[in-house]
Amino acid sequence: MNHFQYRDGVLCAEDVPLTLLAEKVGTPFYCYSTATLARHYQVFAGALPKGALIAFSVKANGNQAVLKTLANLGAGADVVSGGELARALAAGIPANRIVFSGVGKTAAEMRAALDAGIYQFNVESEPELLALNAVALQMGKRAPVTLRINPDVDAKTHAKITTGTAETKFGIPFVHAREAFGEAATLPGIEIVGVDVHIGSQITNLEPFEQAFVRVGELVRMLRADGHNIARLDLGGGLGVPYVQDNAPPPDPAAYGAMVTRVTKDFGCTLSFEPGRLIAANAGVLVSQVIYIKRGDAKTFAIIDAGMNDLIRPALYDSHHEILAVKEPAPGSARPRYDVVGPVCETSDLFAAGRALPELKSGDLVAIMSAGAYGAVMASSYNARPPAPEVLVSGDEWGIVRPRQTYDDLIAQDHIPAWLGG
Ligand SMILES: *Cc1c(COP(=O)(O)O)cnc(C)c1O
Repeated sequence: MNHFQYRDGVLCAEDVPLTLLAEKVGTPFYCYSTATLARHYQVFAGALPKGALIAFSVKANGNQAVLKTLANLGAGADVVSGGELARALAAGIPANRIVFSGVGKTAAEMRAALDAGIYQFNVESEPELLALNAVALQMGKRAPVTLRINPDVDAKTHAKITTGTAETKFGIPFVHAREAFGEAATLPGIEIVGVDVHIGSQITNLEPFEQAFVRVGELVRMLRADGHNIARLDLGGGLGVPYVQDNAPPPDPAAYGAMVTRVTKDFGCTLSFEPGRLIAANAGVLVSQVIYIKRGDAKTFAIIDAGMNDLIRPALYDSHHEILAVKEPAPGSARPRYDVVGPVCETSDLFAAGRALPELKSGDLVAIMSAGAYGAVMASSYNARPPAPEVLVSGDEWGIVRPRQTYDDLIAQDHIPAWLGG
């Protein structure tokens, strides 16, 4: 459920008409709903065993205002870089609610995280373990560590967002887990605290999660028998969200929470989770204006002013986004088919192919739905297009939470070297 609904014939974000924002901010722009973020967070938190840490995956949406909204609800953060760590801390997320994931943490990033005093490092390889040990010892600290285990479970999602099979770069292979924990236990700068697993994203079926968590349970028993202190389980993120209105919806957080509670009840571990998409995807839309309707030989193109530089998911993952006309169409009105494309000079700058939509004309506004996760964070200025600005709505209030850059801003990022007269 989200708070983007038609009211008096206009699509609104909570109490704010998107037409008003388009007028004030210009198009294209991202719009996020506070009530939707809060609702998703609370439904997820309410479904999980008490005391679980919910570490929002900052890579899904790292806007400071979004992070602050979630911090105010009690969220922690899952970060995958020094930059995301800095963002999470700047938004007021307490260091002891931050987990650090990712396969390529550098020594400088490790130092920053140890200095801040984060909750834990989710370590993904033996070389990383050695590097972290060295950094911790230099600083006279012990790093709290889980090892991320790759359970070799197929999450049955898009290949580019699968992370838990033996072919991916993520985690330590299940068969090497005991050996890796054995090695970790010999390192004085490392304090083993638990096990971590994250098998992929946009997972729409509970079975792969359950398989992975059951495997992790077997591992916990073995590791404890080996004498390790396994007090924490980080079960990752990955729960899918509905992108297509008519399809069977993914399992709701309550079903996920019930499964987690059942599978982990005898583990005696403190649980943590790293949801990204589940919290943010349907809490954001990308609003764009139709520039031209171009009648091709075989197709009709709706050329809009948002491009793949603003939202790359369709080009990168073949992902589906619902597209709504901001002015509510009359019931029973025609729905011709359009290829909805952006202005970027790439064939893959395509938001939807052959999509039945209300009749569109130049100047009309459309909302690309479910754009709150992996949207603005992946934006670029390709084609020298300043990325879409971001707006956060709360009730009838709204604020620009990232302004649109000017061309001068873009140009000022570059410097002319001395030999060219700079
Ligand atoms: C991307 C990622 C997440 C978040 O995934 P969602 O599908 O957005 O919930 C969580 N943990 C790790 C380690 C990730 O890489």
